[in-house]
Amino acid sequence: MKANIGLIGLAVMGQNLVLNMNDHGFKVAVYNRTTAKVDEFLRGPAKGSDIVGTYSLEELVDSLEAPRRVMLMVKAGEVVDLYIEKLLPLLSAGDIIIDGGNSLYSDTNRRTDYLRGKNILYIGTGVSGGEEGARHGPSIMPGGNKDAWEAVKPIFQAISAKVDGDPCCQWVGDNGGGHYVKMVHNGIEYGDMQLICEAYQLMREGLGLNVDEIQAIFAEWNHGVLDSYLIEITANILAYKDENGEPLIDSILDTAGQKGTGKWTGINALEMGIPLTLIAESVFARCLSAQKQERVKAAQHLPKQPGGFSGDKQVMIDAIHDALYASKIISYAQGFQLMREAAKEYQWSLNYGDIALMWRGGCIIRSQFLGNIKQAYDHNPELENLLLADFFAEAMAKAESGWRKAVIQAIELQVPTPAFSSALAYFDGYRTARLPANLLQAQRDYFGAHSYERTDKPRGEFFHTDWTGHG
Ligand code: NAP
Repeated sequence: MKANIGLIGLAVMGQNLVLNMNDHGFKVAVYNRTTAKVDEFLRGPAKGSDIVGTYSLEELVDSLEAPRRVMLMVKAGEVVDLYIEKLLPLLSAGDIIIDGGNSLYSDTNRRTDYLRGKNILYIGTGVSGGEEGARHGPSIMPGGNKDAWEAVKPIFQAISAKVDGDPCCQWVGDNGGGHYVKMVHNGIEYGDMQLICEAYQLMREGLGLNVDEIQAIFAEWNHGVLDSYLIEITANILAYKDENGEPLIDSILDTAGQKGTGKWTGINALEMGIPLTLIAESVFARCLSAQKQERVKAAQHLPKQPGGFSGDKQVMIDAIHDALYASKIISYAQGFQLMREAAKEYQWSLNYGDIALMWRGGCIIRSQFLGNIKQAYDHNPELENLLLADFFAEAMAKAESGWRKAVIQAIELQVPTPAFSSALAYFDGYRTARLPANLLQAQRDYFGAHSYERTDKPRGEFFHTDWTGHG
């Protein structure tokens, strides 16, 4: 019996996806550049399964039923192009190549077109949920050539996470649409993580709470509107003690790593002209954290003012909760606005309710909150901004005063909260009918004759003033 699907790349994600497919009754053939890993896998985690090991791409392709489905779970970038070129001579018209790695969406645009020209169907799909998700139910965000979807759908929907019985896997959009949505997902993940870190820092450095006290607060928050995987693991991390019985968190160096998807999201937002301020601040916060040596030096040269918190701690803890919730709403509102703009630019018909559902389970940003986003888009698929949905407008109104209090306190306590603060600035800017861009336009006209529109004339009519009388 031939295999239903072939998978190339037996690192952590590939192995777990294969085991997941096997559990769901699909016969999978596997290949890895370092073929010793095929044997290790078959002898180890795949022992006793129906999984077929192969030791060359020819053998892999020969072992598959038609149309052949070959999934790549390899390092993103040129390795994907390398495998595409190697597979091309071995495949026939109508066969399908799937890239499940974290590829840049513009690469997926290019690859889908290239392979369409060679009669090979291409799918570029985001897979989220890390190792655990891949093994037991990831969120899967497929895009590419839609002609391939029917042949891939049964496998992907079977292995994906489910929320109330619905698979966290739906067709996202043509060409790079799937990888684009995965990129924004990762950007939002950067934002969520930064917000949690700011809440932690405010409680630790601002209020002077100890790790156990903060742990209990996060554990409690996980039962309310903030209920999410990232809050849950934060509580677990804070509970973890090292061999001396001390919180391990205190021994971890404060320099953040990053692989680039947050940066891609920020760059794309700048290109699209969408104010994705919270995610951009989250990327910059990681960059600042990485300047550890300089920060240590600056801490001596630029000492903070003495002083500490002297108010009611519980009031502040509640305010920090509200700041986290309101900022999170801003981050998702900005992320969904970015996707709307990209959909226009690339003619993708993105279904935002489906995207919220795909993120609702399986992936790192999974949360109860995404259920509220799904409801908002189900109610109005054309929603311009999440903040305009009744549910979120009411949530913002309730959280606003605590949020403001937390930001003011953070400023006074000299605790950096770039994501809380920039989210609040966005919120205030978004609901300001008249911004000072009138002055900005005047400045542009003054020094560069860039012209301006007038409030008392129709849009599209431009004026220039000789500001200095010098002509
Ligand atoms: P990875 O470390 O990104 O990649 C390792 C795999 O790529 C191995 O199979 C390796 O083969 C192969 N590879 C690397 N360079 C190669 C080359 N020059 N030629 C041929 N093969 C090469 O693995 P991963 O962490 O499992 O991730 C796989 C993909 O999923 C990546 O795109 C990643 O960004 C994405 N992803 C990862 C996660 C996660 O939590 N890890 C979550 C979501 C998505 P050898 O064994 O021969 O070196």
